[in-house]
Amino acid sequence: MEQRPVAEPYRIKAVEMVRMTTREEREAAIREAGYNTFLLRSEDVYIDLLTDSGTSAMSDRQWAALQMGDEAYAGARSWFRLEKAVQEVYGFPYVVPTHQGRGAEHLISRILIRPGTYIPGNMYFTTTRAHIELQGGTFVDVIRDEAHDPAAEVPFKGDIDLRKLEELIGRVGPGRIPYINVALTVNMAGGQPVSMQNLREVRRIADKYGIRVWFDATRAVENAYFIQEREPGYQDRSIREIFREMMSYADGITMSGKKDCLVNIGGFLAMRDPEILQKARELVVVWEGMPTYGGLAGRDLEAMAQGIYEMVEDDWVAWRIRQVRYLGEQLLAAGIPIVRPIGGHAVFLDAKAFLPHIPQDHFPAQALAAALYVDSGVRAMERGIVSAGRDPQTGDHRRPKLELVRLTIPRRVYTDRHMDVVAYSVKHLYAHRDQIKGLRMVYEPPTLRFFTARFEPLE
Ligand SMILES: *Cc1c(COP(=O)(O)O)cnc(C)c1O
Repeated sequence: MEQRPVAEPYRIKAVEMVRMTTREEREAAIREAGYNTFLLRSEDVYIDLLTDSGTSAMSDRQWAALQMGDEAYAGARSWFRLEKAVQEVYGFPYVVPTHQGRGAEHLISRILIRPGTYIPGNMYFTTTRAHIELQGGTFVDVIRDEAHDPAAEVPFKGDIDLRKLEELIGRVGPGRIPYINVALTVNMAGGQPVSMQNLREVRRIADKYGIRVWFDATRAVENAYFIQEREPGYQDRSIREIFREMMSYADGITMSGKKDCLVNIGGFLAMRDPEILQKARELVVVWEGMPTYGGLAGRDLEAMAQGIYEMVEDDWVAWRIRQVRYLGEQLLAAGIPIVRPIGGHAVFLDAKAFLPHIPQDHFPAQALAAALYVDSGVRAMERGIVSAGRDPQTGDHRRPKLELVRLTIPRRVYTDRHMDVVAYSVKHLYAHRDQIKGLRMVYEPPTLRFFTARFEPLE
């Protein structure tokens, strides 16, 4: 017998029609967008895999929760509901809401980072590093080497290399390391997980030197699934239990609710130390809003609270990972170079291997994302040299080993049939890859350039 199929653990209650476009329309649209998929109009996109951030479909219960939003300026009922959800599911006693993840990154960076300090982490993330650098800190990548190799098949590719971590502590001294930043999962490495064992060891080292551990818990639910699947001793534990154990190794977290929490906007900072809470509350009123709403409407707090309970349901998380794999395995079967193992939120095309005739300085991943859009109206995102930006010291491009195009799967939005359309288009491009040309950058903003940079095709 063939394998019994599994389908979505939900059914569709409302639909949003999307527009199909012609190739000519798409060629005009990408030209107008400066070959940057961030600058396309959503209306011109058929299947939008730009990001899984804030693009989730909310459940009927979340929509109902919106109606229950308490819009009082201070002390709203919705705030207490969010605080309780974070306490119950994440296990941190203190919460400060923010408008999204970078709001939380801003607060913790201001509180803990001083000029001349070092923040070790498992591969950089764009907004995280920007906030570290804005406070005069330096991000130091201490992820295991295999994470920089798209083809290395290791189960926990997001793990911190403990030797690199200890080496940094020995070199600069623990007093110059305000915290260790652990991302769960590691977005820039391909949505790769960190093992529980590694989290435990990072905690042990941090305790030995009196350093804090801060998680970027953006996609920690997906990380919990990989632990359940791959780490000995966790097969019979629920996602919610595993998730809670993971969080027990952190002093606090920054969180983008736009990912795991199944909402369109929101984030928070959560912690155990009441002194950090105090400082975060002092700062949040300046930058975001009252400590009981942090730049969000009451209804947003309410929807995020409901999403926090839904995100750790076992059937949901298993389905989520299965759908990402459904796309990735079709590409693997066709011999297309993608980051392996297939990660939690996206399939990452290895643009260096896909387009070996385009040198990195001609932005192969940017060019591939533009070509994919023209072929099928599928919007993806560059995660390579453009995203990496420039080194503030030398002013030269940073040239990351990973030059990737991310096909990010929004939560509960697309069906497997959409995944088939995406897979077909990528395979089609791969068959005609020699026709894809490099780009040159004609406008470059000073920070987070990938959002708004503009390009032209090279002849
Ligand atoms: C999205 C993201 C952030 C920032 O969150 P926003 O809600 O977009 O501000 C931080 N870290 C990681 C790993 C992310 O994916």
